[in-house]
Amino acid sequence: MSDEHAEIPDDHPRAQSLRTRHRIEAGVERGITSRQGLIAEGRGEAFDYLLGEQTLDSADRAARAAAAHLLAADHPVVSVNGNVAALVPEATVELAAAADAAVEVNLFNRTDERMERIAAHLREHGAEEVLGLEADARIPGLAHERAKVDADGIAAADAVVVPLEDGDRAAALGELGKTEIVIDLNPLSRSAQTATVPIVDNVVRAVPRITEHARELADATDEKLRTIRERFDAEATLADAERAIRDSELA
Ligand code: ATP
Repeated sequence: MSDEHAEIPDDHPRAQSLRTRHRIEAGVERGITSRQGLIAEGRGEAFDYLLGEQTLDSADRAARAAAAHLLAADHPVVSVNGNVAALVPEATVELAAAADAAVEVNLFNRTDERMERIAAHLREHGAEEVLGLEADARIPGLAHERAKVDADGIAAADAVVVPLEDGDRAAALGELGKTEIVIDLNPLSRSAQTATVPIVDNVVRAVPRITEHARELADATDEKLRTIRERFDAEATLADAERAIRDSELA
């Protein structure tokens, strides 16, 4: 990362957003994030701008429902792509630990080199085991490269966290009957629309929030976790986020 990127004064009105952008740039420079990841970041920034770069109450409730699903799951997995690896490597490892979940690298533009780099990057940030490199199973209904997953990871998962997932793959995972927790700033994206639990928030805020809820709910009874899951309303969550974006006073 070049020096000009390092110096962002805290009182800059867009400090957080600029830091996030620079982490993605650094990810591209290190071969972790794809160039398409830069475009995804730009789309995300636009939505986050309209949300005032804050977590909606409805997104916090979604993060709590996500934690309840992960804690109740037999085999939860957190899926990691190039943007997530660049933005929240440590927070992802912490979430996996709090939810007793596996971490699996899953790329839209899969190359062995990028898979290895992301796995190494996650290990540098504390991950003990990183799945995704075996690629010994396939998600039905997707083209060859994009279908690859690990048999003991996403293929066997009953609950998957898929931040910034592409719409086709989110739909294909949903059809397998998995509980899908999607983090996406666009409430209209197909991924958010197909999710069991859509969290319309920036991954840099959402991932630590799910972790906080998972820690807080660690000793909750099965019944309490079930109640949180059952009370969660995905459609209302998406509608609330869309309303907040459309009514944005910043627009
Ligand atoms: P879909 O197929 O689901 O409709 P897409 O495949 O067209 O969406 P992409 O172009 O891959 O979507 O864009 C990635 C998505 O990730 C966008 O919806 C964008 O808002 C979202 N996004 C980008 N950065 C972040 C971030 N930091 N946190 C949360 N969401 C983000």
